Amino acid sequence: MHPFDYTRAHEVSTAIKSGSRDAAKFIAGGTNLVDLMKCDVERPSHIVDVNALPLATIEKVSGGVRIGALARMADVAASPLIKENFPVISQALFESAAPQIRNMASIGGNLMQRTRCPYFRELTWTPCNKRNPDSGCSALEGENRLHAILGTSDKCIATHPSDLAVAVVALDAMITVRGPKGERQIAATDFHLLPGDTPQIEHNLKQGELITSVFIPDAAHAKRSAYLKIRDRAAYEFALTSAAVGLDISGGVIRSARVALGGVGTKPWRARDAEKVLTGRAPSEDLYRNAAEAELAQSVSYGENGFKIELAKRTLVRALTDLVGGAA
Ligand code: SF4
Repeated sequence: MHPFDYTRAHEVSTAIKSGSRDAAKFIAGGTNLVDLMKCDVERPSHIVDVNALPLATIEKVSGGVRIGALARMADVAASPLIKENFPVISQALFESAAPQIRNMASIGGNLMQRTRCPYFRELTWTPCNKRNPDSGCSALEGENRLHAILGTSDKCIATHPSDLAVAVVALDAMITVRGPKGERQIAATDFHLLPGDTPQIEHNLKQGELITSVFIPDAAHAKRSAYLKIRDRAAYEFALTSAAVGLDISGGVIRSARVALGGVGTKPWRARDAEKVLTGRAPSEDLYRNAAEAELAQSVSYGENGFKIELAKRTLVRALTDLVGGAA
């Protein structure tokens, strides 16, 4: 492991000051960062422990709920406020990782976690543009069964691993960050970046900026929402495909629809084409299938991962069917 120094911050301002140094990293639960440091993929020179900061509350605020960035995954998943008003958030968290990790890992850290592409963590240092820019991508013609079919580039096809991020993207969450230049809000849909030519740049944060909270707006489609995750084994596994869905239905018509897909995109994938198909129409399985076809029309197979195209469609159809009550 690369040598580093360690600071425990007790105020946000001092955390930001310490975190603004080159090669500094914030740490909360450490469930991803420490793993990557052990295999030498992450090599921070300064570790800033933010666990003592007062950023762990889950509170009702005007127009929605604010979740502190240091709230633990398990606490948010079990929160009655979240379960009642944003079931997709609770379900996505319960479907994530394992209980021990959910007890440790923070909401902010979950959004910041890095890809599980095996080449990215490969100890023999196979080419990987995300780990070592312009070295090549071993997954393009290698083992890519778990890789992305949406938002890919010829530089990187790694999926984003977070379930929570898929749910917050679906619900139009806003992420508050503080940094050396003050506070700003970033729409969850804009927080993670497509790989393009720079897959090593994964999000919209600048050095020293710290996620402080996530705001989820109240909405009828948020209250009637759900998360469906398909994976190789029933627990402690990342998604092959997943769907976060929310519908506001009245008078037999879908008034508003929110859809995001996981396990298939290089970033948490907001499915706006699917939403357009769904909105203003009566729910039916044919409609759900049309929505899925519209969204996956832009998908690309890289060989082993081609099965995800049909699996993602079926995942979305089933998530919507279950949400409406199976009567569609
Ligand atoms: Fe690296 Fe991305 Fe290619 Fe995986 S898919 S080897 S993370 S560049």
